[in-house]
Amino acid sequence: MLITGASRGLGQELGRQYAAAGWRVIACGRQPSAGNGETGIERRILDVTDASSMAALAESLGERPIDVLINNAAIRGDTGGLSTVEPEDFLEVMRVNALAPILIVRALLRNLLAGGDRIVANISSRAGSLAEGTLDDDEGDYAYRCSKAALNMATVKLAQDLRPHGVTVLSLHPGWVRTDMGGPQASVPVAESAAGLKAIVGRTGLAESGSFRAFDGRTVSW
Ligand code: NDP
Repeated sequence: MLITGASRGLGQELGRQYAAAGWRVIACGRQPSAGNGETGIERRILDVTDASSMAALAESLGERPIDVLINNAAIRGDTGGLSTVEPEDFLEVMRVNALAPILIVRALLRNLLAGGDRIVANISSRAGSLAEGTLDDDEGDYAYRCSKAALNMATVKLAQDLRPHGVTVLSLHPGWVRTDMGGPQASVPVAESAAGLKAIVGRTGLAESGSFRAFDGRTVSW
């Protein structure tokens, strides 16, 4: 399996849990970080906004099968609301959170097709749900919310396009997780979130492709 943004937070924990369960994990990060030599974890460099970095990763993988691809890397960007949202920041958040997962699927499609499970899990957020994302009384985060809404559409579109090839595509909400992004007040420990997400991926098949699920198994409204 391959995971992006595996240098810290949820991505790092997902990598650890998959490796502990016996998977061979390709853990991608922007920097060559510590952890090389951890059993079952192979580190690769990937900046998801850098086309040459993505091409180099794809080339280094060659025809190697990837059973599960987890598009986890993301940024929150500034927390701007209607009066303060910054155009450049908005576009950068869209690039990392919405565009990159699409380009990664395209770059690694032959590897996915060579794999047995053929699952793409896009780590999204309830913050990007049109139905639920505005339930929290929070006026900001235009960039982040719009990027995750766009990612959700990418999930549905990829699910439609790749169904004939037997590829399952999901959007997953990890909960409010205690990471750098979630902050220390967050309610869900990173290990619990990762375990929940891994369990969902493990029991999902083509029939559920194009769905939006939370770490606790709940279906999230689009
Ligand atoms: P963190 O901020 O703790 O970690 C983000 C990860 O993404 C880091 O590994 C970071 O790498 C990586 N990353 C950012 N930009 C790039 C890039 N251009 N190329 C490659 N890697 C990049 O976030 P979380 O672990 O909390 O979040 C994981 C996922 O869960 C994200 O998709 C997030 O949107 C989602 N999520 C998180 C929630 C939470 O409460 N924490 C709630 C809902 C969704 P680096 O170390 O190099 O910066």
